Amino acid sequence: MSKPLAQKVALVTGGSRGIGAAIVRRLAAEGAQVAFTYGRSRKQADALVREIRRHGGRARAYAADAAQPKLLPRVVKRVLKDFGGLDILVNNAGVFLGGKIGEIKAADYEQVMRINVDAVFHLTNAAVRVMGPGGRIINIGSVLGERATGPDMSVYNASKFAVAGFTRSWAKDLGGRGILVNAVQPGPIHTEMNPETGAHADFMRSMTALGRYGRTEEVAGAVAFLAGPDATYITGATLNVDGGWNA
Ligand code: NDP
Repeated sequence: MSKPLAQKVALVTGGSRGIGAAIVRRLAAEGAQVAFTYGRSRKQADALVREIRRHGGRARAYAADAAQPKLLPRVVKRVLKDFGGLDILVNNAGVFLGGKIGEIKAADYEQVMRINVDAVFHLTNAAVRVMGPGGRIINIGSVLGERATGPDMSVYNASKFAVAGFTRSWAKDLGGRGILVNAVQPGPIHTEMNPETGAHADFMRSMTALGRYGRTEEVAGAVAFLAGPDATYITGATLNVDGGWNA
């Protein structure tokens, strides 16, 4: 694989598992030095760092609970110290908690908003202070950041609508500095958050035009494109990687 991201430093949140781990692997394969955060999955994070180093790449994992968003600017400081700069930020860490309005617990609402929205704000607010021209911010939203497709998802829906709003507004804020901001909105992707088995998975598949779940690597490819040299005139955009869910 060519190395279009050589000399770039990337920070990926929630890189220990699922989509985030695929993004870490792909950015490292394209030559980026990759810092990533994790919450609970320390073993997986350490194993991923070892894997990337075995392949000749540079990576480092940082324990950083996204449910404590105001502490996240510390991660930016650590990355600057360890890597000497920051070029690409991928806001990926996220959680899903369901429930109907009138039934959902306030604590669940607060947890989703802290991780899916507040953490994205606090980390990006710190990161853009140290990013220069050519910087890229890629927010992982969701097909549910564009429309509601069923009951029990309003809190997650609202959190991903917020991510979509940040993406568009930050593109306007940062365009003058040459920093590009885009979102990738995945459809159903086979991970621990959304496993492709059971009745729920049948519904998910039926919502896509392609009739199947996506793979984490298919999301990572879109992120690499938006981080790379072929995406210099794209900002404020949303790339749906959803098998046609939102067509
Ligand atoms: P997973 O549950 O498989 O992985 C979630 C990742 O986020 C893990 O690396 C986890 O780290 C991290 N994370 C969760 N909570 C915290 C926390 N409090 N602090 C730090 N890290 C945390 O989810 P996916 O990979 O499926 O999802 C990744 C993103 O993609 C999310 O934003 C999700 O909303 C979005 N998405 C996923 C879809 C899907 O179908 N899978 C569809 C649309 C969007 P750790 O285990 O170390 O805590």
